[in-house]
Amino acid sequence: MPYDFRSVWLQELTWEDVDAYLKESNIIICPVGSTEQHGPAGPLGLDSLVAIALAEDVAKATKVLCAPPLWFGDSSHHLGFPGTISLRTETLIAVIKDMSRSLAKHGFRKILFINGHKGANLPALISATKNLREYEMPEVFFAVIDPMKIAKKVANETKEALEHHSGELEISECWYKFPHLIKADRLTTEQVSFAETFSPWFHEDLFSTTHEVIDTPWTSAEERSFAATGSFSPSIKASPEKGKKYHNYMVDQIVAFIEWLRSYRGPIAKGS
Ligand SMILES: [Zn+2]
Repeated sequence: MPYDFRSVWLQELTWEDVDAYLKESNIIICPVGSTEQHGPAGPLGLDSLVAIALAEDVAKATKVLCAPPLWFGDSSHHLGFPGTISLRTETLIAVIKDMSRSLAKHGFRKILFINGHKGANLPALISATKNLREYEMPEVFFAVIDPMKIAKKVANETKEALEHHSGELEISECWYKFPHLIKADRLTTEQVSFAETFSPWFHEDLFSTTHEVIDTPWTSAEERSFAATGSFSPSIKASPEKGKKYHNYMVDQIVAFIEWLRSYRGPIAKGS
């Protein structure tokens, strides 16, 4: 009997439900976030919450299953603020690899990570999936989906400030999906002066299509001193309406990707 989709979340199903799903599809979405400070207005789980919301909305639209969310990411630079829980980069790589090995063992062949934590989780996600493909499981297709790369258009049409950690867009998205978790009276106006603190090549706007970037990692102690509230860029212009536009654009992008992926057989099979 085919799986009835009473839930898109693996952790809410029985093994027989998953077995039934695998007879029809080999795609799974894995949301990955973080538990880290998000300024005075945003909850510590913001990156995980938005990854979960994206995964759930996409999964419902495409009838695909989601793995349980990973609530921890690579957040060492935020450890100066209470509540932040970080995995070291190598731990995150190990977790991503073990999750993938388990899923692949049962027949999942298209594993899509939706990352809510932007640049800080990407080195681990790319490294883990690239190495798994080369050395262990070339037959498994991986995708790493990140707002920084699929939302440039909508971000630049929507936001009114530079977007960085705990900025206007990510606060807006959380506000749209989880309104009770945003402290609207604690939105921020400060903009960290990245050029002074780091260099004119700092990645000052995560959605810029023109600013040239040289990465200069910082420590949690440095962050505590250059970002008094934890927020790197202003969130004062955040709104649920902006969040809705930003979120739905990303959902559309990922849904289109999955529809395309259903018939994709890989670069080798394609030519044969
Ligand atoms: Zn964030």
